[in-house]
Amino acid sequence: MSWSAHVLTLYPEMFPGPLGVSLAGRALAEGIWSLDTVQIRDFATDKHRSVDDTPAGGGAGMVMRADVLARAVDQVLERRPEAPVLAMTPRGRPLDQALVRELAAGPGVSILCGRFEGMDERLLEARPILPVSIGDYVLSGGEVAAIALLDACVRLLPGVMGAASSGEEESFETGLLEYPHYTRPYEWEGRTIPEVLRSGDHARIAAWRHERALADTRSRRPDLVERHGDARRPPPSDARRED
Ligand code: SAM
Repeated sequence: MSWSAHVLTLYPEMFPGPLGVSLAGRALAEGIWSLDTVQIRDFATDKHRSVDDTPAGGGAGMVMRADVLARAVDQVLERRPEAPVLAMTPRGRPLDQALVRELAAGPGVSILCGRFEGMDERLLEARPILPVSIGDYVLSGGEVAAIALLDACVRLLPGVMGAASSGEEESFETGLLEYPHYTRPYEWEGRTIPEVLRSGDHARIAAWRHERALADTRSRRPDLVERHGDARRPPPSDARRED
C-alpha cells in the first residue's frame, strides 16, 4: 500500500495545490503516495453546518468545536488506525527533519488543519493527536503548514528523489546546514566559483564542504551547533540532483 495522507480541512480545494506539481506531483501521479481530503464541515450536525463557536472566557475570534472535529478525526482513525494523526498548531512540537523522517518511514499521516483561533483544547487531550508547528510565526490556517509537512515527507519516500539522491546529506540531516552550492557560469558579476570546487580533488572538496557547513552553521544557526555539537562527519562530495 502506498504512503497515504488524509487532510481534514475546511478548504479541501487547497489540495493538492503545490503538491500536485514537480517531485510530489509526479510521485502522486505514479501512486507512490495518495492524498485524500476530508471536509470538516460534513461532520457538523446543525442546519447551518457550524464548525466553530465563540471562545470560552471571551476574546476575539472563533474556536473550532471539539465535538465536530472529533467526529471527523474518529472517521479517519477508523479508516486508517495505523496512521498517526497530527494537528497543525503554533502550540505544537516544532517540525524538524527527524520528525519528517519518522513520518516518511511510516504508513502515512492524517492531518487536522485549524482555522480561526484554533481548536478546542479538549480534542487534543481526548484523542491520540500529535500537535505540530512548522515554525514560530502564525499562519491564517493549517493547510499551508500541512502542505509544507507533506512536501518534506513525500520527497523522502523511496523512488521520489531517485537513487543518487537519498537526501541524507542535506541540511539538518547531519545536524548542520548544508554547504553552499555553485554552478556555471564560472564568473558572474565579478564573483568566481571557489577554486577548490574546480580542482577535481574529491578529498579536498569534501573537506572544504565540511568546513563551510560548520562555519555557516556556527554563524547562521548557533542553536544547531549547541544542540548537536560541532564534530559532525563531513558530507560526501558526490553530486546530487533534484528536480
Ligand atoms: N490563535 C492561535 C495561536 O495564537 O496559537 C493561532 C491560530 S491560526 C490564526 C489558525 C490555524 O492556523 C491554527 O489553528 C493552525 O492550524 C494554523 N497555524 C498557524 N500557524 C501555524 C504554525 N506556525 N504551525 C502550524 N500550524 C499553524
